[in-house]
Amino acid sequence: MKHYIGIDLGGTNIAAGIVSEAGSIISACSDRTDAAKQFEQLVSDISDTAYKALSISGLTISDVTAVGMGTPSCIDPKTGLLVNANNLNWRNVPLVSELQKHFPVPVFVQNDAACAALGEALTGAAAGYENAVMITLGTGVGSGIIMHRRIYNGCDSMGAEVGHTKLVHNGRPCTCGQMGCFEAYASATALIAQAREAAQKEPSSLMNGMCGGELMKMNAKIPFDAAKQGDNTALEVVGQYIDYLASGLSSVITLFRPQAVIIGGGISAEGEYLLGPLRKKLYRCTFAAEQIGIPDIIAAKLGNDAGIVGAAMQCVA
Ligand SMILES: [Zn+2]
Repeated sequence: MKHYIGIDLGGTNIAAGIVSEAGSIISACSDRTDAAKQFEQLVSDISDTAYKALSISGLTISDVTAVGMGTPSCIDPKTGLLVNANNLNWRNVPLVSELQKHFPVPVFVQNDAACAALGEALTGAAAGYENAVMITLGTGVGSGIIMHRRIYNGCDSMGAEVGHTKLVHNGRPCTCGQMGCFEAYASATALIAQAREAAQKEPSSLMNGMCGGELMKMNAKIPFDAAKQGDNTALEVVGQYIDYLASGLSSVITLFRPQAVIIGGGISAEGEYLLGPLRKKLYRCTFAAEQIGIPDIIAAKLGNDAGIVGAAMQCVA
């Protein structure tokens, strides 16, 4: 049986696992990411975490077919250069060749959201589907497009970024420098900003009490919790958030016609309270939905494991 090392590098954590050919995690290990370290030192830490996971599994590097890693950044698949990772202060670093110094097997690197999508599509929420799109609703909006069980990257290092497709002409400013991106409306950050603004305007809203009167303590769960208790201000904030989410996703569905759209990230924990209204709105606003329906809209299932599994499975796909 073939084995792969899957590494999920985040701004705060390095997670590594030994993954079977079928996509199950045999052993895993995680360490803190010290973003202040030099590039070569941090790659050495990544390698240490991977070898720890390997030792827990009882296997050795000679049992490993390839190493796959996901990073929160853009990778040029032709050169192995990592173009830019803001949270690690990496710019144009030779990531694949540096990793290759530690592993005597082929090394592959991909965007982390694309890896998570591959993990969910092959062994998680969308197992059994050939084509799926995953959207991660967190600080930003991450995305991964899976076509015929492989990551679709387009033709250059920036890959496919659903979060930075345009939702509103000249709309809200986005972290990327553009205006009106989907991410500026559908991220958890956007929901929190809207909830703060609405709570400030409406002092009687339950959301004020739920953040202890300190609007800086607002999080993405509070508007949902208040809405579940019938708070009108929160219902309006959540309703508008789901409207924006549906508008952005309807374009993605019309472009790619995936069999499933997987929703991940912290907000996906709202489950059917989010997905039920989202399906209804998508049905209303998506091209030809009355004739052909809409894809399955499902919550991600693997949590943090998706990144490790997908990172490893990119070596197979
Ligand atoms: Zn943007």
